[in-house]
Order: sequence, then structure tokens, then C-alpha cells
Amino acid sequence: MVEGSCLCGKVRFQVEGGFVEGHHCHCSRCRKAHGAAFATYVCTPVSGFRLVAGEAELTSYRSSPPVRRSFCRTCGSSFLFEHDAVPELMFVAVGTLDEVLPSALPIDAHCFVGSKASWWTIHDELTRHEQQRPEFGG
Ligand SMILES: [Zn+2]
Ligand SMILES: [Zn+2]
Repeated sequence: MVEGSCLCGKVRFQVEGGFVEGHHCHCSRCRKAHGAAFATYVCTPVSGFRLVAGEAELTSYRSSPPVRRSFCRTCGSSFLFEHDAVPELMFVAVGTLDEVLPSALPIDAHCFVGSKASWWTIHDELTRHEQQRPEFGG
């Protein structure tokens, strides 16, 4: 089991059963939401995700029609991402996980490299998708 939390610690969650997919997202919305060059997400079946504290602190909004993002309203940590095309999956921002081994993170791609920050250079050999992953509709 993997545990995680927001920065202030009010919102805590657990993931059981591991992650099925992961990627670095370079879209402009993730860049704004995380205040960083890109966001790194791993996803788990919704059934494996459990909020264990701070449900009242969790705030959600739609950043685009098919996407819902959730953050802590006290500290602003952005950590959950849900996409209408894959409602069975919950995406978790990797930086909010507490202790996790690299081998537990199936991160295999960069997405939306077409809108990557001009000031960031990708330095690895992972698959690069110009937009989203093909399974989310290309
Ligand atoms: Zn918080
Ligand atoms: Zn994104």
C-alpha cells in the first residue's frame, strides 16, 4: 500500500493494489495547476484509491470539459486528476506520495509534448506523445 498527502497534511489518502500507468504531462493546464515545468501522474483503479482524511478540505473543479482536478483548499496541493474518458481510473500526482519506490511507478511516457514549456528540455528516452495518450482519444 502507498500513502500520500497534501502539503499541510489535512488530506490523506491510500492506494492499494498499485498503479497501472504513469506519465509526465506537459500540457499548459498542468503547468499552471502545479506551478512547474510539467506534472507527473500515476493512475490506479478507482477501487484502489481511498481518501482517509480531510474530505472536507478537498476541492474540485473542471479545468477543461472532460477533466476534474482536486486540490487541498488550505495548502493548495494539487493531487488528483480524473478524466471522463477513463472514469474507472484515478490519477494521483506522484509528488504527493509519501514513500514510494521507483519500481512501483509505471511512468512510461511524456504527454502533450506539443505544448511543453519552451524553457524545459526532456532528457530521457520515454515515449513522447504530441498530445494525450492514444487511449484518451489521441
Ligand atoms: Zn493541505
Ligand atoms: Zn496535463
